Amino acid sequence: MNKCAILLTADCVVTQNYKREIIRDGAVAVNQGIIIGLGARADLEKNWQAEKTMNLGRALIMPGLVNAHTHLPMTLLRGIADDLPLMEWLTRHIFPLEALLTPDMLRAGTALACAEMLRTGTIAFNDMYLNEPHVYRTADACGLKGLASESVTRYPSPGYGDPANALDTLRAQAAELKGNPRLRYCIAPHAVYTTTPALLESLAGLAAELDLPMDIHLAETKTETATCLEQHGCRPVELCRRVGILGRNTTAAHCVDLTEAEIALLAETGTVAAHNPKSNLKLASGVAPLSAMLKAGVRMSLGTDGAASNNALNMFSEMSFCALIHKGVHQNPTLVPAQTVLDMATLGGAEALHWPGLGQLAPEGPADLIALDLDSPNLAPMHDPVSHIVYAASGQEVRLTMIDGKILYENGKYHSLDYPALVKEAGEIGAFFRSRK
Ligand SMILES: [Zn+2]
Repeated sequence: MNKCAILLTADCVVTQNYKREIIRDGAVAVNQGIIIGLGARADLEKNWQAEKTMNLGRALIMPGLVNAHTHLPMTLLRGIADDLPLMEWLTRHIFPLEALLTPDMLRAGTALACAEMLRTGTIAFNDMYLNEPHVYRTADACGLKGLASESVTRYPSPGYGDPANALDTLRAQAAELKGNPRLRYCIAPHAVYTTTPALLESLAGLAAELDLPMDIHLAETKTETATCLEQHGCRPVELCRRVGILGRNTTAAHCVDLTEAEIALLAETGTVAAHNPKSNLKLASGVAPLSAMLKAGVRMSLGTDGAASNNALNMFSEMSFCALIHKGVHQNPTLVPAQTVLDMATLGGAEALHWPGLGQLAPEGPADLIALDLDSPNLAPMHDPVSHIVYAASGQEVRLTMIDGKILYENGKYHSLDYPALVKEAGEIGAFFRSRK
């Protein structure tokens, strides 16, 4: 008989493997953070001797979700300014408040984001923010996986001071994360409109030199396109091509204002697009041409963006919006089916993080999994597990979140963070921000 640390059993296991297998009455054997057995419960119970057996019963085990675009500390600014035009929202509300963020606040905001992600079944993220070491150190302590990047613009920043220091700061941050098993570094020019072609080029050069992936906001709004045309005589995607940013190692968030030729270019270069439907709707940036991108073969992932423009970091609600909005806009209910959306939130996330093995349950893969409560009234009966995951689940059905074989959240309890203390601290920071508005 084989030995394993944990044997989980449940009514249903959605693997998201290459065959998209769904196992009814299934089980997962985990040892040293790795899935070492997966299949019918009866077979695994016969073949595996577990130190700990967890019979989850009426539950659905699935891979943890991957959020392909976040700004984690923005949880602190959630709901502080809503229903405003993008530039007014950014310049009059978000930027002045972000300037007040202290390291303690960045840590609290990130821990709050980690609590929300663990509670709603997200195991990995792709983050870009200011003063990113506070983000990745906190996320590391909370046990999540992810890509972390300091957002670089042509302006001074609390992360690196004068822009002339940006590249050295990035090198130091990359060195700090080298060898970290769960957090990897990424090079992130904030966007075309906040940088210069020369800066973009030097960041692309640094990414190539250090063999790191890249992350950028791209083609988010029509205003971005107009500014780029005016300043550089070309559209944002073309500018990124010229400076060497497009390619398999780059994830581009938003990708809303695209021409057919630009969609073809993203597909051809293997650039990963991170679709953020809720943020794009809330800021009225538009609706990304997702079905055209899928048809053209663009590698697609799904993200929430920051909590101030969403206003959640909940990938279940993001999946639901993603599956619904394109059907309505094109008046075609066959577009963007549930399985496609689940693929974007799992396997697509692995592509966005350039991290093979994430987003699926498979032997020898990481034990990054979640379990949903199938006794939730909105999930019974279950004809089609994938339909329930995308259209019916809210994220509140998550009973358990495991990363690398460690249970980090279970039935309302966090194992890697002090949630009551965190909520108290968040409340105090919130009161401070409201007093400064
Ligand atoms: Zn963003």
